[in-house]
Amino acid sequence: MNTETQPISSFIKAVAFAAYKHRTQRRKDVDASPYINHPISLADVLANEGGIDDINVLCAAVLHDTIEDTTTTADELTPIFGAKVMSIVVEVTDDKSLAKEVRKQRQVEHAALISPEAKLVKLADKICNLRDILKTPPSDWSVDRKQTYFDWAAKVVAGLRGVHPGLEAVFDGLFQQRGDLT
Ligand code: NDP
Ligand code: ZN
Repeated sequence: MNTETQPISSFIKAVAFAAYKHRTQRRKDVDASPYINHPISLADVLANEGGIDDINVLCAAVLHDTIEDTTTTADELTPIFGAKVMSIVVEVTDDKSLAKEVRKQRQVEHAALISPEAKLVKLADKICNLRDILKTPPSDWSVDRKQTYFDWAAKVVAGLRGVHPGLEAVFDGLFQQRGDLT
């Protein structure tokens, strides 16, 4: 295998792995979209809006919710995708044994402390979730709940700043639409 095809093969392997792991899951929008659309969107944002070609970041992006939302373990990721991809995914994984409010506060506190690669994945995650809330929101969310999510996401992104000014500007453009939420 040459060095040009290897990253593509790794990325396709990550997409196939995540698609299998999330196969029974749906997003919270009115159409209950396939869950895998979301991790693929993160990789799309990073590669095509952020110009990022670091294969570890792109693989971690498509795998970012596998530990948090499926039975996937860190030990399962390492032999397939390597220790770096595994560690990025672990860095963006919430501890689900904690109460939701505590988890949300932890994300705010930890954002500045994670690796640059994990910061990129987290920034793309918040960009994608704000886009989803603007275009295809959870079907039962009030305007107040959407605004609360925007405000929390902005606090998390405050800790990520400096990692990619271009993507931070994309986030800021979405945040400016907070007043248009219905
Ligand atoms: P959730 O954490 O329950 O849901 C948000 C997450 O759902 C996103 O981070 C995203 O996670 C995922 N998701 C799936 N589909 C979509 C979609 N279409 N659009 C956007 N995100 C989607 O909700 P909250 O963040 O609001 O956290 C719950 C907290 O809200 C609780 O602490 C509770 O106390 C509070 N709450 C507030 C209310 C209010 O009106 N303000 C009402 C009820 C509760 P991922 O990227 O991981 O897929
Ligand atoms: Zn996510």
